Amino acid sequence: MHTRVLIIGSGPAGYTAGIYTARAGLETVLMTGHMAGGQLMLTHEVENYPGFTRISGIDLMASFQKQAESVGVQLKYEMVKSVDFSKRPFKIKTEMNRTWTADAVIIATGSSAKWLEAKGEEKYRGHGVSICATCDGFFYRGKSVAVIGGGSSAVYEALYLAQIADKVTLIHRRDELRAEKHLQNQLLVHPKISIRWDSEVVEFLGEQQLNALKIKNAKTGDESVLPIDGAFVAIGNRPNTEIFKGQLDLSKDGYIKTHKSTCATSVEGVFACGDVQEDTYRQAIIAAGNGCVAALSAEKFLLEKK
Ligand code: NAP
Repeated sequence: MHTRVLIIGSGPAGYTAGIYTARAGLETVLMTGHMAGGQLMLTHEVENYPGFTRISGIDLMASFQKQAESVGVQLKYEMVKSVDFSKRPFKIKTEMNRTWTADAVIIATGSSAKWLEAKGEEKYRGHGVSICATCDGFFYRGKSVAVIGGGSSAVYEALYLAQIADKVTLIHRRDELRAEKHLQNQLLVHPKISIRWDSEVVEFLGEQQLNALKIKNAKTGDESVLPIDGAFVAIGNRPNTEIFKGQLDLSKDGYIKTHKSTCATSVEGVFACGDVQEDTYRQAIIAAGNGCVAALSAEKFLLEKK
C-alpha cells in the first residue's frame, strides 16, 4: 500500500497537515493512533482556540476530523509500530501488521502525560490515581481530591474538580506556580481549593483504593500524611517519539529536532509538527499552525522530487 503523504497522529497538527496536503491534490493517509483526536479529547473546555469562544475538546477535534475527511484525507484507525526512514519511499508498519510506503511522512504524534513515578502510584492507577480530571473527576462528587503540579494543566484540573468535589488540594513542589496568570487568579480565590506549597508526594497510600498521600516538605524535609479520596497527577508531558529513536535526531528530552521555519527533520522528506517537536508553548493553535508548515514543506519537497 502506497501513498504520497502519510501522516502519523490525529491531533490539531496531524489533521491540519492533512487538510493542506489533501487540498493540494496529494493522496493523504492519516494514521490516527489509539485515541483519535489526541490530548484535546481529554480537555473539558477550550476557551483560547481562535474562532471558538468556548468549545469542548471533543467537539473541536470532531470539527478537525470532519474537515479533514471532507477534503479527502483517508483516516486509518491504526497505531504505527515501526518506521524505516533509511530510504525512500519510507516504510511504515502498523500494529495490525500492515506495511505502508510513502513519498513523504509528517509526524504529529504529540505527547503523553507524565506520571510522578512515586511509590504506590502504579498500584493505585485507576483506583484513586488518575491523569485526567475530565475522564475521572465524575467519581469524586462530594469527596476530597488532590492535584499534583504547578502548571496550567494542574490549575485547570483543580478548577475543574472544584466543580465536582467538596475539597481540592493543589500540591506543588515549589512556592510559586508556573500556570498562566488568569488561571492562577481564579485558583487563589476559590473557596474549595487550598494549596500545599513546597510539597512533594513521596508515596500513594491505601488498601484496595487510594486513601492518603505521604507528603514531604521540600524545604524542611518533614513528612506528613494527607487523607484523600483521589489524586490527579498533572506534571506535564513527554513526547511520543519512541518509534523514531535511531531514525531521526531527537533532543535530550526526546523531542524531534526540526528546522523551525520548515518543520523538516534530520531526514529529507520527513517532517514533524505539533507537540512532538515543541517543548515550550504546547498549544493547540501552535500545533495547527505547525501542521500547516509541515504540509506546505512536504508539498514543496514532493514537487521538487518529481
Ligand atoms: P508544565 O507547564 O510543564 O508544568 C508542569 C508542572 O508540573 C510544573 O509546575 C512542574 O513544577 C511540575 N512538575 C514537573 N515534574 C514534576 C515532578 N516530578 N514532581 C512534581 N512536580 C513536577 O506542563 P502543563 O501544565 O501540562 O502545561 C504544558 C503547556 O500547556 C503549557 O504551555 C501550558 O501553558 C499549556 N496549557 C494551557 C492551558 C490553558 O488553559 N490555556 C491548560 C493546560 C496547559 P515546576 O514548576 O517546579 O517546574
